Amino acid sequence: MEKISVIVSCYNEEKTVPLFYEEMERVSKEFENVEFEYIFVNDGSKDDTLKILKELHQRDNKVRYVSFSRNFGKEAAMFAGLEAAEGDYVTLMDADLQDPPALLKEMFDSIKNEGYDCVATRRVTRKGEPKLRSLFSRIFYKLIDKITDFEMVDGARDYRLMTSQVKDAILSMKEYNRYSKGLFSFVGFNTKWIEYENVKRVAGETKWSFWKLFKYALEGITAFSTAPLALASIMGMFFCLISGIFIFLIIIKTLVFGDPTSGWPSLACIIVFIGGVQLLSLGIIGQYLSKTYLEVKNRPLYIVKETERNK
Ligand code: UDP
Ligand code: MG
Repeated sequence: MEKISVIVSCYNEEKTVPLFYEEMERVSKEFENVEFEYIFVNDGSKDDTLKILKELHQRDNKVRYVSFSRNFGKEAAMFAGLEAAEGDYVTLMDADLQDPPALLKEMFDSIKNEGYDCVATRRVTRKGEPKLRSLFSRIFYKLIDKITDFEMVDGARDYRLMTSQVKDAILSMKEYNRYSKGLFSFVGFNTKWIEYENVKRVAGETKWSFWKLFKYALEGITAFSTAPLALASIMGMFFCLISGIFIFLIIIKTLVFGDPTSGWPSLACIIVFIGGVQLLSLGIIGQYLSKTYLEVKNRPLYIVKETERNK
């Protein structure tokens, strides 16, 4: 018998967890000679998610749970799930059924029969999402794909099925600032992409505000690209060159035409502009410094309060 570990990160998902469990139970019947284990990671939910997980565990001991001491974020939850997983294959899913369990059979067959190590999914539509958010997402993926050395796929979900070998590779990267889509690109392996249409959340609401997504996007860029740092030095060189040319021109002009005192408004503008560029560059360096700072502290990614094994 082979085993698939299904990892589900849950933050205030009391409404969706039971629906997810039912759907997964239905889907798992399509598999032959495969057993399942469900690992629900309760990421510091403030509702009754943990209570529901405990009830599910009572009913069905395939259901396991890891409950955090507070909200550590989805990346930490996925990491904890991967660490707890014991299956030969591991899949990461959202609790809200936006990652259709029905695709799992097809994904599993690709790994078994076509020799892939990992099957990932991407949404080809963003139906039901605010227009502005889709626009920013698209710009973000274009940008990050250009400035990193790794392939960043537009619309990629965290929903994937992988062999335990890929899981171990991901777990070997213990960085604090995690951006999973980048980590999966980084580890490589044969990956097949499956496309599907966006599905609306079955119940509850999204946990991602625009601001949270924006910060996550910055995380992705600083974690996988040093291009912004290069940008700061390129801007620096550019302005040195420009100012060199100006100094030369002014000297010539003064020698030829004398020195009438004019043009101080333009001077003020230039000072403000260069000041702005300097602050921007400092800010970029600061971003990287702050990430390094957090990394150096070596804090744990998450803290567990209880699991089904230690209550
Ligand atoms: N999630 C989590 N911790 C968080 C935020 C979200 O574990 O701090 C989980 C959430 O419970 C869900 C998944 O991550 O299972 C995706 O979240 P959501 O559906 O809110 O995001 P969206 O699909 O809108 O991008
Ligand atoms: Mg969702």
